[in-house]
Amino acid sequence: MTHDILYNLYKILSRIEESCLKANRNPEEVKLLLATKTVPADKIRIALQAGQVLIAENKVQELKEKYEALKEIPHTNHFIGHLQSNKIKDVLKYGVTCIQSLDRIELAEKLHQKLLADNKTIEVLIQVNTSNESSKFGIHPDDAIELVTKVSQLSTLKIKGLMTIGLLSNQTDKVRECFKILKALQQQVIALHLPGVQMDELSMGMSGDMEIAIEEGSTIIRIGTAIFGQRNRPDSYYWNEAVTVK
Ligand SMILES: *Cc1c(COP(=O)(O)O)cnc(C)c1O
Repeated sequence: MTHDILYNLYKILSRIEESCLKANRNPEEVKLLLATKTVPADKIRIALQAGQVLIAENKVQELKEKYEALKEIPHTNHFIGHLQSNKIKDVLKYGVTCIQSLDRIELAEKLHQKLLADNKTIEVLIQVNTSNESSKFGIHPDDAIELVTKVSQLSTLKIKGLMTIGLLSNQTDKVRECFKILKALQQQVIALHLPGVQMDELSMGMSGDMEIAIEEGSTIIRIGTAIFGQRNRPDSYYWNEAVTVK
């Protein structure tokens, strides 16, 4: 088990380097985030002990379950799943420093209220539904600028960039189009010079499409399967997806 994970990690790091080289980018611009849904703490620990520092869960319940087992190893926790308002308290309690899946103003306002009360702030990315799949979470690209603008007025939420899940398809031009949409939105937001808004991070690219995402400017790739192996639970459990285009 240890050997597999270490070998897979090595392969992913090589793929990052190779794609960066191809895209004329510095590999240090691309952070590797380990998407750890369904992965037991023992396996995650192997990756952390090998020097990885950034992990993320999709469900507050799993975050909670693994929290104790991992807390002695220094690392950063992001949240990449659909966040329900009634789970806000827990997501803050278990050390999440960035919510990458902020996709609606109601959630932003509730987060803000809770953070104000606690005298805390949190980093956020705005999740955009670039693939136009109605079942997928994320704000529609046409409404993204408005959401960023509104969230920027909530002082406890520190916007760091945008996140998307690309179209799950082997039609690479369509996948690439999703990442181009996110990049274009980033440029539009930057041009607005909104006070307090940073747009450095583009969280895009997963096991199957990381090379394309890196070519299109990704700064955070989120990898699960290619490091920890196939999950025994379908992604629809996490993504609420009725259909997957393959
Ligand atoms: C599961 C997941 C990933 C990783 O997907 P893999 O295809 O297993 O690499 C990335 N982002 C999100 C939001 C996820 O839920």
